[in-house]
Amino acid sequence: MQRIALEPATRKRPAERDLWRQFPALEGALPCLNLASLPTPVTALPALAGDRCRALFVKRDDQIASTYGGNKVRKLEFLLGHAVDRGCREVLTFGVAGSNHALATAVCAARAGLSSISMLTPQTNTRYVAKNLLMSLVAGAELHYYRTQAEADAGARFQLLRHKRRTGVEPLLIPGGGSNALGTVGFVNAGLELASQVDAGLLPAPDRIYLPLGTMGTVAGLRLGLAAAGLKTRIMAVRVVHPNIGNEARLEALTQATIELLRTHGCKLAPSQLADVPVELCHDFFGRKYAVFTDEGMAAIRRAAEHGLQLDGTYTGKAFAALLADLDSGALDGQSVVFWNTLSSANLSPLIADVDYRQLPTALHWYFQHPVQRLDR
Ligand SMILES: *Cc1c(COP(=O)(O)O)cnc(C)c1O
Repeated sequence: MQRIALEPATRKRPAERDLWRQFPALEGALPCLNLASLPTPVTALPALAGDRCRALFVKRDDQIASTYGGNKVRKLEFLLGHAVDRGCREVLTFGVAGSNHALATAVCAARAGLSSISMLTPQTNTRYVAKNLLMSLVAGAELHYYRTQAEADAGARFQLLRHKRRTGVEPLLIPGGGSNALGTVGFVNAGLELASQVDAGLLPAPDRIYLPLGTMGTVAGLRLGLAAAGLKTRIMAVRVVHPNIGNEARLEALTQATIELLRTHGCKLAPSQLADVPVELCHDFFGRKYAVFTDEGMAAIRRAAEHGLQLDGTYTGKAFAALLADLDSGALDGQSVVFWNTLSSANLSPLIADVDYRQLPTALHWYFQHPVQRLDR
């Protein structure tokens, strides 16, 4: 079990969620845990904007929770709420070795009094892989490592049975990235939350929002939330995963599944509202491979750091590079722009300082014994 006291999550349903205000029927129907401190702030970057756009703001999901944050916490409020409601004691999920989602699941599960099992697969080595693995140990996660996704899927079937036999209850299976319809609802709330901040005068209504596209729950939910609020915003979804994972057809399927989930609880969205929030997939900043850093991404990280923003090479640096390219080309002239910071900014170093990597499954020691990719050194 976990070795340090993480901020506890109250099992009480959070009283303040913009989703309840927009769709009152959901408050009783969808169990939700209090894991995120919401609303996350919006902060302006006037020096970077200059006169090249009307306004440039950052949505600070990096500050969503103190132990470990980022965009996954919004999905986990609903996914883990469902797990608790169903009487599960454990959750099982998937990710690559350094997966932010697997770590967020481990930390949030521990905060909610649940155990977690992570089914991990290989990725390119980066410094944060080691950190995330050690932090998963601190959170008490049970880790398994497989060479391929097919092996991880087979392993998952075995682990679900094994855990059910041991505890009497099957663990809740959470898909990679937390991106099923229920997890996506967390980002419907996020879109409504941003709209409330616009209404409160904290920022102008955004013409464009830039963010990374991975398993797509973030983009799909945000679009539905913005549409439900009546905003007219173009979502610039910067693909950072293989096109088999992030693509238009799968985005449409997840969007429809989420609309269907909302509809079963009596919450309707007009197709005309959806048309007001187009999603543009940007493919030009992916580079060679998932989690392989790019020169443009690294340059974007350096420029962001000059303005107090800490980004990463796998997700946010690539998305910010897309924003900077449009800013520098004059494409954002007169526009109000938001960068959605999906990365956790929690400093894990003090928590993992005394953890020995040899407590990890042996196959994962590789990430500690081999150099990280050149752009990350
Ligand atoms: C998972 C992740 C994303 C992608 O979110 P999806 O909902 O999977 O598309 C973006 N940024 C960071 C930092 C992430 O960890």
